[in-house]
Parts: sequence; C-alpha cells; structure tokens
Amino acid sequence: MGPEEFRRAAHELVDWVADYRLRAAGLPVRSTVPPGAVARALPASAPEEPETVEDLIADLDRVVLPGVTHMQHPSNFAWFPSNASLSSVLGDIAASGIGALGITWQSAPALTEVEQVVCDWARQLCGLSAGWHGTIGDGASTATLVALLVARERASAGSQRRGGLQAEGAPLTVYCSAEAHSSVAKAALLAGYGAANLRMVPVRHPGREMDTGVLAELMKDDVAGGYRPAAVVATSGTTSATAFDPLTEVCDVAGEHGAYVHVDAAMAGSAMLLPECRHLFDGIEGAGSLCWNPHKWLGSVLETSLLYVKEPGELVSVMATDPSYLRSAQDGSVVQYRDWGLPLGRRFRALRLWSLLRLEGAAAIRARLRRDLENAQRLASLIPEAQGWELVAPVKLQTLCVRHRPVGLSSEEDLDRHTLAWCEAVNASGAAHVTPAQLDGHWVVRVSIGAEPTEWSHVEALWDLMQQKAGEGAH
Ligand code: PLP
Repeated sequence: MGPEEFRRAAHELVDWVADYRLRAAGLPVRSTVPPGAVARALPASAPEEPETVEDLIADLDRVVLPGVTHMQHPSNFAWFPSNASLSSVLGDIAASGIGALGITWQSAPALTEVEQVVCDWARQLCGLSAGWHGTIGDGASTATLVALLVARERASAGSQRRGGLQAEGAPLTVYCSAEAHSSVAKAALLAGYGAANLRMVPVRHPGREMDTGVLAELMKDDVAGGYRPAAVVATSGTTSATAFDPLTEVCDVAGEHGAYVHVDAAMAGSAMLLPECRHLFDGIEGAGSLCWNPHKWLGSVLETSLLYVKEPGELVSVMATDPSYLRSAQDGSVVQYRDWGLPLGRRFRALRLWSLLRLEGAAAIRARLRRDLENAQRLASLIPEAQGWELVAPVKLQTLCVRHRPVGLSSEEDLDRHTLAWCEAVNASGAAHVTPAQLDGHWVVRVSIGAEPTEWSHVEALWDLMQQKAGEGAH
C-alpha cells in the first residue's frame, strides 16, 4: 500500500471509528457471540489476492464488533474503565504511522525523549517528587515483575551474576496483601521466589487494607526462621474493593528488614491527579517503585503503563545488555530504555499519553475524574436506602461493591447464587455491563464507574436495571 492509497483508506477507517464511537451506545454492551463464532466467520487461510478497505470495514462490522464487549459504551461498568480516548487514539495512529524502532536511543531519539518528558509530566500531575524516574511499558503485570526482579537482586547482592537463586542459602520472601492483584503472585513466581516464599498478608476490616501488624510479625518470624525478606508489594487501590494499603506503615516495616517496596497503583494512580485524593497515597515517597496504568480510567490507549523508580541504576544493573550491533557514540550519556525493562524493541507508546494530555488538557481530565467520583458517591448514597441492598466495602474511588439480600434467603450459598443470577441478568439484557468478584469468599457485584461517555443518567439507569433484575430473581 502506497501513501496515497493509505490516505484514502485511512480516511475511511477513521470515519468508521468515529461512527463506531457515535453508535456504541446503541449496541449491546457485552459481546453476544458464542465461542468459536468469530473464528468460523473468517476464511481458514489468508487471501492470495488483495482485498479492499471496504471489504475490511465490512468485516469489522460483520465479524469483529459483535465479538467485542464495548468498553467505550456509556453503560459499561465492568472490570475497570479501559478508556481509549480518541485524543490518545490519534497518538497511537501517529506512532504506528511513524513506525519507529525503539531499540537504542540512536534508533529513535524522540521515542526515548518524548517518553522521558511525558513520564515527567505525569509525575508532576500526580504530585510525586522529582526523585521518581519513569518508563512506559505494556502493563502493571510486567512492571511488578520488573520490580520483583530488582528486589531479588538487591536482597541477594546480585545473585544472577553468580549461581542465581538456586545457589542462595537463605530463601528470599515476598509479601503482599491477601487482596493484591493476581499479577503480584504471578510476578513472584516468575521471578523465581517460589510459592512457598510468598506471604499473603491478611487485611483489616472494614477498609480491607494490609494489616501491617501481621506484616511485621511475619517478617520477624521469617528472619528468625532463616528467611530473608526481599520485597513488599503494597497495593494502592485493590482490584476488587479499591482498598489502599497504608504505605507509610508498609515502608516502615519493610525498612526495618531492608526489604524493597513496590506500589501497585495500576488503577488508582489516575486518582493522584486530584489533590483531594492524594492522602490515599500518603507514604508513597518511601517506596522504591510504583506502577500506574493511564490506560485505566485516565484515557490512554491500552498498554500504556507507567513504571516509576527511585534508582534507575538498579533496573540497569539487573536488565542491561550490550550487544555490539546496538552500540553507538551516545552510550553512557543517554537513557537506553531497553535496559529499564524486558523487551528490546519498544513501540512509541509515549505518543498515546502525549496526545491525550495535550489534546484534552489536565483540567478537563481532572473534571472527568471528579464527575466519576461524584457519580460513585451519588449511587453509594442510594444503595443503603433501598430495601435489601448493601455496600460491601467502603467506596474510596469510583468502584462500588454491592449486594442484594432478599428477605428469606437462608444461606450464604443461596445469596451467592442470587448475586450471580441478577448480575448475569443485567449483562444478558445488553443494556449495561457489571462484573462479579469475590470478597471474603462470597460474591459481590462490582460497579466500576468511569467509562468516558458515562454520565449520571447512565448510572441511574443501571441502578434501575439492577433493582429490576434483582427483584425478579428474588421471587
Ligand atoms: N494491579 C491491579 C491493582 C489491577 O487492578 C490490575 C488489573 O486490573 C493489574 C494489576 C494488572 O494490570 P495489567 O493488565 O496492566 O497487567
């Protein structure tokens, strides 16, 4: 495809994207296709002869869209707001169009330096000190893995350069709250700590934050038992209930044993743009690293995940490589982001966040986040007033954990069945989408407010629908 043909095709495709966003509100929120339907609708092998962009667009409508749960739908309240703001989409298009190869500073100086600048903009917007240095990766899972690799090497004085963990005498231990995201346990396993050395610290109630008294006891017992505490992963905004681990206490306890602290603020990092929310992150300056996904809620296209560290040199000492074909005269005087993470070749991800921040402006983003927080509080005020309804966790940001307890239900198992049934009824209606999750072993429904087009009227309509479906299930 040449540039002129691209120009024509891209205009058509951009029109299609704009039309999709305009009509998304009229589509069923949850994908309606059964397993295998999308694959069956496509030819078994690639075409020998070229097709047209019109063919392609027809199949986006016929095959692809029915196979998508519409995260950009105003009545999407599932998982977390995965907002791909159109202002960020523009940056993504530019990045793909430029097709830069991020393998050394020299291969695309702008790729490195826009990333440095945008990470610094985001740092300032969140009120973090100038001591943090950022990089952009694919997700919080990777960021936490990287943090735990750094922690492993710190605690073992660089064991990777000797016999690795296999040659270490004292096992290294990792601690996180029992409500930490599954990616934390995954990272600990992938980084070689071993499941037997991962401590899931119980949470306090009602806030569901890590019980740092228990953390201190566990660490003390581990040291007495010949283990070496390597890292604590604290969560700022847990996935199910948006709980905030007390960072000052976590850092104090970890500091007593020289353990590294990584903060997973994947979802809640965006709230740091709001000064009134920053108390939730008190103590963050004591941590060694922090991850935050602007592709959640803030509006950047997916796979825009920030990892901030205090000591970039620690990343470099664990992950630097120096193959001869990547060397250049600037080595030593520039940042080589390949040494800050796992992949060598990196996309121009920074353009997504750059274009979002430039084309929206921080003030408008803050206003949207505040709108969502207000909508969450407004819904939270209605729930306890309604017969049989309860909030199962404090509403710290924009997610509510709710349950409906009909009169006469005799067991917790029946309540679980009822919860899953009305949740499924809401989703099957196509009019809205919410997701269930377990707290203390029992099902609740999470209402995650914050899709970009969601206004109070959509939240209100969801509330009516929830009451209707739960009421029907109760009879
Ligand atoms: N951490 C928390 C608190 C999350 O809520 C999530 C995703 O929902 C993750 C980590 C995983 O993020 P990613 O998909 O970017 O790996």
